[in-house]
This record gives sequence, C-alpha cells and structure tokens, in this order.
Amino acid sequence: MDPNLREAISAEIGWACRILLVTHVGPDGDAIGSLLGLGSLLRARGKEVTLACEDPVPESYRFLPGSDQVVQEASGSYDLVIGLDCSDRQRMGDVVSENLAALPLVNIDHHVTNGRFGTINWVDASAVATAQMVLTLAEELGWPVTRQVAICLLNGLVTDTRSFRTSNVDMAAMRAVLRLIEAGASLPEIARQALEQRPLASVRLWADAVDRLRLEDGILWTSVTLAMRQRWGMDENDFSGLANSLSGIREARAVVVFTERDNGLIDVSMRAAPGLNVAQAAVRLGGGGHPQAAGCTLEGDLPQVQERVLAEVGQSLSEQRAGAG
Ligand code: AMP
Ligand code: MN
Ligand code: MN
Repeated sequence: MDPNLREAISAEIGWACRILLVTHVGPDGDAIGSLLGLGSLLRARGKEVTLACEDPVPESYRFLPGSDQVVQEASGSYDLVIGLDCSDRQRMGDVVSENLAALPLVNIDHHVTNGRFGTINWVDASAVATAQMVLTLAEELGWPVTRQVAICLLNGLVTDTRSFRTSNVDMAAMRAVLRLIEAGASLPEIARQALEQRPLASVRLWADAVDRLRLEDGILWTSVTLAMRQRWGMDENDFSGLANSLSGIREARAVVVFTERDNGLIDVSMRAAPGLNVAQAAVRLGGGGHPQAAGCTLEGDLPQVQERVLAEVGQSLSEQRAGAG
C-alpha cells in the first residue's frame, strides 16, 4: 500500500476517538465482513466504534462474530467516518446524514468505478475484496489479526470471489487467504455458511425467476417482482446469488437480474462473460461495480427499467465488440 496513504489513514485513526464505520446498502459478504473485521481491529486499538449499514445484515452473514452489533442508523457524534466497499456516496445510504458531512471521511474500496468521494481515498481495484484491503492495513500497521477478525475478513474474500472462481483472483488474494487461515479462520466453514446454505424458499423463488428467463441478443435476463418475493416470503436483503448462478450459462454474453425492492426502487444485477465488461453500462446508469459484476438501482416501473437497462447493456456490449474487432 502507498506509504503516504498508510500514514494519512493511520493519522486519522490515531487522533479519532469515536469512529463511524459504514458499508453499502443491500450489503453483501464483503460489505459485512470488512465492516465487522475493521470494527473489531479498531476496538482492539481502544476506539469507540459504531458499525452501520442502512439495511439489515442478511441471514447468510449472521454467523459472523459481531454481526448483531450492526446498527441501521447512526445518531451519535463522531470524529471520523470510514466508508467500506462503497463505490460512491449514495451507496452509504442515509446513515451518513447531512450533519456528518463535515467530518473527515476515509473511503476504503476496491471498485474500479469508485468516485473518490472521501477526504482520503484508498481505492485498490486489484484487491479482490475490501476485506483484503483491511487485512493489508492491519498488517502494515502491525495490528494483530485475531481469529474473530480473520473469519470476518475471509468471509469478504470468499463471497466477492465466489470461493476464488472470479477472474481477478491472483497470488496476492491467495496469500491473504493463507494468512487468514493461519489466524484461525476456516475456509470450508465460511464457504458453507456464506455460499452454500440458503432457505428452500429462495430456491423456489429462483425457480419462478428461471421460468421467466429470456435470452435476447446474448443477454440473458429475468426479474424478481415484489409479488414473487411475497409469494415465497423472501426478504429483499436475503435474496441474492441468482445472477451469479446464471453467469456461467454458455449462451449468455451478459446476465441481468432485476429485483423489485420494498421501497419501489429496482435493483439491477449485471454479470459479464469473460472479456466483456458490464461496469461501463452500470456507470452510465448511475451505478458501478467491477468489469464482470456490476449493478445499479433505478426508479421507475419494471418494464421501463428493463427496457432502459437492456438497451444500455446491449449498446455497451456492441461498442466493446466493435472496439475489439
Ligand atoms: P450484485 O449484483 O448486487 O452482486 O453487485 C455486483 C457488483 O456491482 C458489486 O460490486 C456491487 O458493489 C456493484 N453494485 C451493485 N449495485 C450497485 C449500485 N446500485 N450502485 C453501485 N454499485 C453497485
Ligand atoms: Mn459489496
Ligand atoms: Mn467488495
């Protein structure tokens, strides 16, 4: 890590007593893992830490130590805010209210699309997970990594790489895994809890969504409506993984899954086949992500949003084909 950044982050953390850690809305395993991991590291330094996320911790990550301490609102007073795995300010949600806007904000993230919205921005798109960056920070600052911290951070690496199957997995990521296992985390246990275990209702809901799959111009897409979620009693924050499961389908150059949220907004999950990029389309739609996995959140009714997103993804993919040819 850049020594100037390390010193700047170390200095901010050094003087702050009360630190607010925030991760992104609709949290995934890296969001929760890096939040809990850094929270626990900072508490061991004697800091008063609040862990916040606008949405509740999904069921899959409630096995993580400290997951019951995540709050959905931050009303106290703080000296410092640290954003984790948030590619833009909106991703932090309303947890960081107007009256916290004047505080120093350290932005720690691994999205190539990061908008550098912090007062200090540490963005490393070569890291497979924000949790990997948290491990780097701990090691460079000489902070001991306990078993509890290792479990949370390994959860971030396991989930963001779908158990080390994504194209960005490299030696640095695997070295981080080794160190986390040495510190006491169990890779099979985390993979089982975070990736394998799911309620039956989620598979029933997948079946409904698979029924509606369409393949148009190489884009494989489907939707999960409010009514479908209600039918199976699936909470919006506990339903994930469908886009990942579809991403290996040979006929698809890209996968798009639309999910209606309770608040009427529509979450869009995108996946690209190797060599293609969906982050570009996601950014044009106001979202972000990684080349192979990106997303955005849009207003509007489902058919409108579907049309707009599919047009944008189609356009972006044909530009990429033209560029490559
Ligand atoms: P998902 O499809 O939810 O697994 O997300 C895939 C990737 O896209 C992750 O890296 C997310 O952080 C990113 N992403 C998803 N939704 C959004 C959004 N609304 N705004 C910015 N990035 C997003
Ligand atoms: Mn994330
Ligand atoms: Mn991440």
